[in-house]
Amino acid sequence: MRPVIPESHPRYFSLMTREKLVEGFRKGIVVPEGLIAHGRGEAFDYIFGERTRDFAVRAQRAAVALMLLSRKPVISVNGNAAALVAEELAEFSEVLKVPLEVNVFHWSRERVERIAEFLMEKGCKNVLFAGDAVIEGIEHARRIVDSRGIYSADTVMVMLEDGDRCEILRKSGKKVVAIDLNPLSRTARMADVTVVNNVTRAVPEMVELAREMRRMNREELERIVKEYDNDATLREALKAIASLGASKVP
Ligand code: ATP
Ligand code: MG
Repeated sequence: MRPVIPESHPRYFSLMTREKLVEGFRKGIVVPEGLIAHGRGEAFDYIFGERTRDFAVRAQRAAVALMLLSRKPVISVNGNAAALVAEELAEFSEVLKVPLEVNVFHWSRERVERIAEFLMEKGCKNVLFAGDAVIEGIEHARRIVDSRGIYSADTVMVMLEDGDRCEILRKSGKKVVAIDLNPLSRTARMADVTVVNNVTRAVPEMVELAREMRRMNREELERIVKEYDNDATLREALKAIASLGASKVP
């Protein structure tokens, strides 16, 4: 039996998010490990007050600018991301004219196809999942990529990512945009632009930004990227955590 979660519940949104993941798990899109990874993310979200902070607003802007400036950007989607923000990713992909690529740590052909089908059902028109190329240097299944997507991309946007792949993508000369609530993770520290925010807020907010910013000229976009400082973003996120210790416990 599914619990009925009243909208008045103070943790309504967080509980509904969990429900989406559990549903994704039942459909074979999300793996059990994905549920645990979400737990780490939501702990950070709780600490940040479950809202988009200033450092995330700046990173989201720089991330969209970088995607718009890139020659061949791609958005890497795993099971959790599909379960949480498939419709929003469809919109983002459409507005930016950027493909989505299914890329998972716990790989099986069936699971990849299931995620791709789910994304298409939710309106994603440009979904890559051929798995016809390999990124050297990665031992696990994240190495299996699409030759038209991550393999040949100049910028890869990742979410709920593992740090080792992020490092290899960087080493192979690609720019990486990461959405990761943990400012201490290797992914967060490795990426060119780290959006320390929940994907459930970051992606729809980035869709709105993309709608506004696609009208900007290259110089304006280049200035946004040049002025952006990712180390400052991570420092501010850590400061936000540390400052909690200074506030009074209610
Ligand atoms: P790394 O390997 O980069 O050091 P990690 O080992 O902490 O990271 P993983 O399990 O590899 O973490 O990946 C999951 C990451 O996704 C975590 O950093 C977690 O904070 C983050 N995360 C989980 N749920 C969300 C979410 N809803 N929105 C944004 N980030 C999330
Ligand atoms: Mg990890």
